[in-house]
Amino acid sequence: MVVELISVGTELLLGNIVNTNAAYLAEKCAGLGLSCYYQTVVGDNSGRLAGTIRTALERSDLVILTGGLGPTQDDLTKETAAGVWNRQLAMDPHSLERIETYFRERGLEMTENNKKQALVPEGAIVVDNDNGTAPGIIMEKEGKRMILLPGPPNELKPMFENSIAPFLTGLENPDAPGIIFSKTVKICGMGESKVESQITDLEALANPTVAPYAKTGEVHLRVTARAEDEKEAKKLVKPVVKELKSRFGSAVYTTEEDVTLEKAVVDLLLANELTVSTIESCTGGMLAARLINIPGVSEVFKTGYITYSNKAKRKIAGVKKGTLDKFGAVSPQTAKEMARGTALLTKADVTFSITGIAGPDGGTAEKPVGLIYMGCYVCGTTHVKEFHFSGNRAKIRETAVSAALTMMRQ
Ligand code: ATP
Ligand code: MG
Repeated sequence: MVVELISVGTELLLGNIVNTNAAYLAEKCAGLGLSCYYQTVVGDNSGRLAGTIRTALERSDLVILTGGLGPTQDDLTKETAAGVWNRQLAMDPHSLERIETYFRERGLEMTENNKKQALVPEGAIVVDNDNGTAPGIIMEKEGKRMILLPGPPNELKPMFENSIAPFLTGLENPDAPGIIFSKTVKICGMGESKVESQITDLEALANPTVAPYAKTGEVHLRVTARAEDEKEAKKLVKPVVKELKSRFGSAVYTTEEDVTLEKAVVDLLLANELTVSTIESCTGGMLAARLINIPGVSEVFKTGYITYSNKAKRKIAGVKKGTLDKFGAVSPQTAKEMARGTALLTKADVTFSITGIAGPDGGTAEKPVGLIYMGCYVCGTTHVKEFHFSGNRAKIRETAVSAALTMMRQ
């Protein structure tokens, strides 16, 4: 089978981003024994994209397109690819529900144009996206196929690994053992490069494969085996999962598919019969929101405050004026008093405070953007930790919340 890659995005053409997706897909396809003779980069332009797709379909059996599946005006890959084969787009209820859940779980508002991402060409196979909102799409016509995947690498890679690769292997090799079984080892509190440096030997395995995926503040290692039946596949996966658990020790918070970091925290509090309250400044309630996503949290969660202004920090948590004047709102002292004040007020066994500079403004040489202090009060003692996060405002806030959950788990 001959495969061809089309990377869509004006940013790629202008050199603003490096085309790592093409490198990744080319390597993966070669690994699956597929021949790739052409790769193209095309901008966000419907006419030129349609022309590129037509050319690719003439000379290749399978065309993989990445990028341009987002909700905005310049995201037109799906519409254009469907148009080349005269397919209409129809609302896919399964994808719509997944997108709605994605927004709900993150406490984000879903806009009308996000619904566009649940539109699917008639007759297409939908590939779930666990890390974003745009589903992947597989279309077939007269022995030719198009596969559409989202641009962000952290969305594309797991989709390729978990869904597309098995699909292509099945096409190439209809007699190959048909069962795929995977287990994910979820790690928190360690960066992706550090995790990867400790698994280079395991990444070279062929069956099972071990593939890392970075999420904000977490790294997931997916161990996937192919075998005749599930029992056999599980037997291949088990020793590798055991090895990963022993390498990463307490940084592994679960190997269960449906356990998130916040669920692991809530389970820990439940198991120890501890209650919790939160007080947040720059994260604006995101920590409380993630905990409250977990059903059953009412047994442990007492109160969540958002004290953004200094006045609120004083009024709600009783942070001393002298502390704020002398050390500032973003200081270990303030984080400590926020956590302690909340404990006194809510009588929770554990309280957690976050104060920091999410940017883009407000940073100084002494206190740069990304500086965050977290206070954790546990049964009478308060610990404070200092963090330096990078990225834009949203990224810093999200990373801070993951770090807080990681700290709560310890
Ligand atoms: P979104 O929903 O984020 O808009 P999308 O499927 O529409 O996703 P694009 O808008 O094309 O994808 O790209 C989104 C981001 O994904 C880019 O800003 C870039 O960071 C990354 N990306 C896209 N294409 C590539 C690529 N070929 N290689 C590496 N990164 C890419
Ligand atoms: Mg986009």
